[in-house]
Amino acid sequence: MKISIDELKAQPQHIDFKETIEGLEAVKPVLGEITLSHSSYGVKVVGRVQTLLKLNCDRCLRPYFQSLGVDIDESLVYPPENEIQRDRELLKRDFVELLPEDGLIDVTDLVYQAITLATPNIASCGSECPGLPAGATGASGKTLAGDKNRQDLIDPRWQNLKTIFSNDEKDKN
Ligand SMILES: [Zn+2]
Repeated sequence: MKISIDELKAQPQHIDFKETIEGLEAVKPVLGEITLSHSSYGVKVVGRVQTLLKLNCDRCLRPYFQSLGVDIDESLVYPPENEIQRDRELLKRDFVELLPEDGLIDVTDLVYQAITLATPNIASCGSECPGLPAGATGASGKTLAGDKNRQDLIDPRWQNLKTIFSNDEKDKN
């Protein structure tokens, strides 16, 4: 979804956001409410979105679901009149975004970025996590059977850990 800056100059836009966004681990459309308003410095984007992610636990390697709510509070500013290139670098460092030159604000991309930032770097299925799977391939092959694409992404370091702990795991099972 894109909103033109010209539209916002006329009046603030309130969006009921509902989109399936490519590239996220979301299993449901992203839902939320977003308000865009224009002022002399640029455009302010505020709101809240939520979705349901399907993540793979980094420890037991099983898929699990996690609901995620993200507050959006972004300022997109007009580029400074002078020395645009230099200031562009400064702005990047300060985490302020410039308004797009085509005059269209990509709301979907803003939401995508906000959700990506809020997605946990280390995924954990929670306090009930059974821990590392037993055996080199057995358990992970079973639990991830419906999710073959992810199998290739298993961190090779786990393979070593699995070898180290394989005797303990066998005793438990
Ligand atoms: Zn787990």
